[in-house]
Parts: sequence; structure tokens; C-alpha cells
Amino acid sequence: MTNNHTSHLTLYILGAIVGAVGLAFLSPETAMRLEVGGDIFLRLLTMMVVPLVMASVMSGIIGLGDVRKLGRPGGAAVAYYLTTTALAVVVGLIMVNLIRPGVGTVDPATLEAMAAEGEGIATQQGDTTLGGIFRNLLLMLFTDNLIAAAAETNLLALIVFAIIFAGMLTTMGQRVSALCQMIVQVNDALLSFILLLMRLAPAGIFCLVTARFGEAQAEGNLMLVLQQTGAYFLTVLAGLAVHALLTLPLILWVFTRRNPFRFTYQMSQALLTAFSTASSTATLPVTMECAVTKAGISKRSSEFVLPLGATINMDGTALYEAVAAIFIAQAIGFELGMTQQVVVAVTATLAAIGAAGIPEAGLVTLVIVLGAVGLPIEYIGLILSVDWLLDRFRTAVNAFGDSVGSAVVERTFDT
Ligand code: ASP
Repeated sequence: MTNNHTSHLTLYILGAIVGAVGLAFLSPETAMRLEVGGDIFLRLLTMMVVPLVMASVMSGIIGLGDVRKLGRPGGAAVAYYLTTTALAVVVGLIMVNLIRPGVGTVDPATLEAMAAEGEGIATQQGDTTLGGIFRNLLLMLFTDNLIAAAAETNLLALIVFAIIFAGMLTTMGQRVSALCQMIVQVNDALLSFILLLMRLAPAGIFCLVTARFGEAQAEGNLMLVLQQTGAYFLTVLAGLAVHALLTLPLILWVFTRRNPFRFTYQMSQALLTAFSTASSTATLPVTMECAVTKAGISKRSSEFVLPLGATINMDGTALYEAVAAIFIAQAIGFELGMTQQVVVAVTATLAAIGAAGIPEAGLVTLVIVLGAVGLPIEYIGLILSVDWLLDRFRTAVNAFGDSVGSAVVERTFDT
């Protein structure tokens, strides 16, 4: 596709989202009937994820020629993921403590009704001690069945395997040269295929967005829900805005001297796809395609910073979890002191790392944060009704954080 073509595509996608919301409000029934179109697009993107992650991570290491060369960029990537996630959490905590969206906003009767709705999720509470959380994160790195890991899109375990396996291939020389070449070619072909898929993006995104907004409109409670949780909703949005419009652009500019506006535009298709799918994993193919072909980020950086980032680097989710936990505490009159807020910060970071890149995964791992400071889990019901909408914004921020990461880490590869 030419540059002209791609800039049109961004406009078409943007138009599709605006039109989709419009249709949902005018005729929710029609909008909901388009769900199947959205599901098809989502399936097409998601089916690419496992092959793409395997091929791209392996091809990245093969391109490096020696897995040890990953040491410096690997360290930089992990430092970037942790720093930006922690910064996001801090922004969220500052916002929620300043705005205090939960204080006196929900009356006791509504509170009880909402808590009842949250009970289903409350039963999913696992081990919320710090040791337990670490243990679970550690176990996520390994699988006892590669095929099952692929079938369940358990990306972390696949990435660990791909790094080790490809690292080994680089030591085997001529014996595996055909295999190495094949992996690199498969990766190239998959990227081209994604470029092809993106032609469906405006239609697919239109269907995805209109069906979900149509559903909310048909239930007829979107406005009521926004009234009840509006202050919370705006607090999360404000925090996400600070992170996406100030923190990340500043990091991008300081470390790479890239123009943040231009960069955001180059990544815009990925950001809009993230908003529409509410899934970092489903967006990953688009993020990789934009990073390489539009933003000109080197393959060796994007090939491993993006897949890993889509799985463990979730700035938007971490910020949201911190705000949500404090909001719930405020709403039920549960004072959280300084120490407990630090516990919220640490567990929100870990919970975001552990969250899968699928819709509303953050809502489930929020249970960890609530459990760690002893908040009653069923009050998750308070934020349930707007979560599908907030999810879209935080997923876009998650994808943006990964993109900036691939540009920053690019500079640490040996030339
Ligand atoms: N939907 C988010 C993502 O895929 C995760 C979450 O915050 O629920 O990145």
C-alpha cells in the first residue's frame, strides 16, 4: 500500500468509528445485527496472533545472530515496561486522591444493588498475597504443553519458548540454515497478510463498535450508568490522558527525538484498532505492522518489544486498577492510608502485568488489588457497568505504551 493509501485508511477507520456510534444511537437494533461482521474481523486478527508472535520473536533473534545480543535491549525493555507502568499508577493515584470521585457519589441502596451484581466476579478471587501473585506470574512463563499454550493464546509461555529455541538455533550454524530462513520468510509473509487484512479494517471496526454501543443503547442505561459513575469514569480518562498525552510523548521525545504527534499519527491505526477491539492481543498484528511499515521502527526492536509488551506492559490497565481500587474504597467509606496506597500501587502494577490482553481482563485482575488491601471484592459491581467502555480507552493506551517502547528500546540495539 502506498503512503497515500494508508493515510486514507486511518481516516476511513476514524469515520467508521464516528458513524458506528451514530448508528448505535439512532437504531440500536440495526447496530446489534452487525455484530457478526465485527466478530469476523476480530477472529481474523486474533487468528494471526500466535503464528505471528512465534515467527516474529524467533525471526528477531535469528536476525540478531546471537541471543546474548538481546541482553542490553532486553534489560532496557523490562526497565521501560516497569518504569512506565509505575508512572501510570502514580498518575492514577494522584488523580483519584485529588478528584475523590467516590466520596458521597453513590447512595447506600444503589451501593448494595451494585455489590450484588459484583458477586459473580468476587468468586474468582485467588491468592492475593504478594508471594502468591509472584508465584502465579512466574508460572505464566512456562507451559507443560506448547500446543495447549498456542490454543489458549498463552503468549508469555510461547515467547519464552521462542526466545530459547531461536537462541539455540543461532548456535547450530549451517545445519539449520533452511529452518532459520523459513522462519524469517514466514514472518515476512505474515506481515504482508496483515497488510491485506487491514483493508477490511474500516468495515470490521464499524461493525465491532456499532454492535457494542448499540447494545448499550438498547439496554437504555448508558446515561444512567454514566451519571452514577461519571466522576469515576472521568477520573480514569483524565489519568489516561495525562499518561498518553504527556508522560509517554515526553519519554518518546527525550529518548528518540521523534516528533510525538507524527509518531501518534503513524501508529493511529493500531490505536483505533485497540479502541475498537478492547484487546491488546488482537491489536498486536496491527501494532507490529504500523510500527515497522509506518513508523519505520526497526524489525529487530518491534519483533520482540511489541509481542512482549502486548502481554506484560499495560500502562492503561495499571492506572485504571489503581483508580478503581481507591474509588471503591472511597465509595464504601473505607479509608486507605499511605501504606495501603503503596500496596495498591505495587499490586496494580503486578495485576496489570498478569492481565491477559483480552477485553475486560483488567476487571478480573482488579480482584488481586482489592484483596491485597482487604476491600470487599463484590463492590467491583460499582464499576462493572462502564467497564466495557473504559476498557477501550485503556487498551488504546496499552498499545501506545508498547509502541513508544519499541521506539525507545530500538536505540539500545548494537549497530
Ligand atoms: N483489554 C485490555 C487489553 O487488552 C486489558 C484490560 O485492561 O482489561 O489490553
